[in-house]
Amino acid sequence: MVQKTYVTYNEVHKLCQASAEKILNEFQPNLMIAIGGGGYVPARILRSFLKRPGNPNIPIQAIGLSLYEQLPVASNTGPTTPAIEKDVEQMGTRVTRTQWLDLSSLSMSNLVGKNVLIVDEVDDTRTTLEYAVKELTKDVDEAAAKMGMPAGETKFGVFVLHNKNKEKKGKIPGNMVSEGRYMAAEEVGDVWICYPWEATDIDEHDRLAAEQKK
Ligand code: 5GP
Repeated sequence: MVQKTYVTYNEVHKLCQASAEKILNEFQPNLMIAIGGGGYVPARILRSFLKRPGNPNIPIQAIGLSLYEQLPVASNTGPTTPAIEKDVEQMGTRVTRTQWLDLSSLSMSNLVGKNVLIVDEVDDTRTTLEYAVKELTKDVDEAAAKMGMPAGETKFGVFVLHNKNKEKKGKIPGNMVSEGRYMAAEEVGDVWICYPWEATDIDEHDRLAAEQKK
């Protein structure tokens, strides 16, 4: 059975707090893009810790992504037919957009040439982050071209609460890691993390989290 780890709101808050200084020192984001739904709460908490006196709050934009994880349906065809092989191969690797940026020139001009921090709760197979980084880079470069600016002027960074130490299916640009623009508050094993915002009974969730700590 997959091991479950219960994380409380208090712990999420403190993970964001503990990471804020590194994010400010290494990246200095102008804007955050939260990947919904798991990135919303961390991005909002982080915003309080990134606020500097005299400066406005860092704006947060939202995108919605979900992994396509439908299992291939059993059929009369043999288990090794190409169609099924393809389904298995693509299982959990196709990302669906449920919400995206406003691609109007006015909105996109807010991103061009800026430091944009992509926020999600967990980096598991990295499929979602690969998609987000690639697609956002593409859209921002297109917007830059329309503004007569060169591509690559916008810097993307990533912040996640948890990075699972496992082999990753998705890839992020190597210089994002070498330049310290990939930041995880905590490294964990390949466990299933239960976040507080998913709980239907938060008292029970907190009780299980406390029990785990004993
Ligand atoms: P990835 O694309 O990195 O495989 O997975 C990203 C998404 O899968 C996350 O944004 C999250 O929604 C979901 N996910 C992956 N691992 C976990 C986990 O341990 N706990 C929860 N609650 N969601 C997870």
